[in-house]
Amino acid sequence: MSRRIPYGRQSIDESDIKAVVDVLRSDFLTTGPRVDGFETVVAEYCGARYGVAVSSGTAALHSCMHALGVGEGDEVIIPPMTFAATANCVLYQGATPVFVDVDAETLLVEPAAVESRVTARTKAIIAVDYAGQPCDWDALRAIADRHGLKLVADACHALGATYKGRKVGTLADLTVFSFHPVKHVATGEGGMVISDDDTLVDKARVFRNHGISSDFRSREKAGAWFYEMVDLGFNYRLTDIQCALGISQMRKLGRFLERRRGVAAKYAQAFAGTAIVSLGLREECEHAYHLYVVRVPGRDRVFRVLREAGIGVNVHYVPVHLHPYYRQILGTSEGLCPIAEEAYGEVLSLPMFPGMSDGDIDFVVSKMVEAVG
Ligand SMILES: *Cc1c(COP(=O)(O)O)cnc(C)c1O
Repeated sequence: MSRRIPYGRQSIDESDIKAVVDVLRSDFLTTGPRVDGFETVVAEYCGARYGVAVSSGTAALHSCMHALGVGEGDEVIIPPMTFAATANCVLYQGATPVFVDVDAETLLVEPAAVESRVTARTKAIIAVDYAGQPCDWDALRAIADRHGLKLVADACHALGATYKGRKVGTLADLTVFSFHPVKHVATGEGGMVISDDDTLVDKARVFRNHGISSDFRSREKAGAWFYEMVDLGFNYRLTDIQCALGISQMRKLGRFLERRRGVAAKYAQAFAGTAIVSLGLREECEHAYHLYVVRVPGRDRVFRVLREAGIGVNVHYVPVHLHPYYRQILGTSEGLCPIAEEAYGEVLSLPMFPGMSDGDIDFVVSKMVEAVG
């Protein structure tokens, strides 16, 4: 039996294709009505006031750092069990990422570890809702308030998750989503900043458009040619083509989440009582399952066996502080975050996407059980 099962993939249907084709026949390929439409749909879904659509999750993180005024001499606390972009956005601003360890069961940032690394230079905390499970946001909020820090949620894994009945998108001062094809909603490349804060949102909007204080359509509406660059920004705009796909995808997010949770339930049941250990779940959270992460003995061997069987297992993540670039510029090394480093040797991400069939799940389960023994 031969199968090819990736670890993640987009689900695109005819309505998505039609939405994109409709834009191609319209007046705006970029900075048109679909951008506002997509921002509104995502913000409303989260129960937040504003969305700022940008060209990637990474651009969204960078926009947050800029909006918060993070700069040279500042420190931003982050966990190492994340994609490099979470830390890179701090470096883009000339500030210093400070790595703190995670909880052994959930691999979510440990609030007590966060507080122990706060200094007079700390400006913000970026917490990552790893795999799709929200962090302990009440504890993080209390720490942020005690020390006058801003809270950013890197929620690229967690669109649709909840914490104590509150939606991800309302838990931090700024929340970031990605619309890369392996994430919950695909726009090709794409990202969004979600917030209730007018001032921060205005700064992010200007930042994504070169630092110019009005966009093309607002000038058109005012019948004016005049524009001013009031800040140094980037071209981080998301196109109408992509936003149309995003709007269409958002209509299916409920179904996507339901299937992801269904896949997770099947994995959890199948691995109970085996040497394949699923990550811990927090009772007060509804998980969004961007990833299904297990810990296994002999991970490198299991990885090879599964890959040879055509199953696209993956490893999330190389702890960021162990990347050669970070070792070189920050002098970080093994021993800085021992729990994350130990987890890195054991974690395996199994295929997890809405288009998985029951047969795909059974195939992954049987190969895993066979490989781990
Ligand atoms: C995907 C991801 C990003 C970056 O998103 P892009 O859209 O690929 O730039 C950042 N942080 C985390 C945790 C991610 O999973």
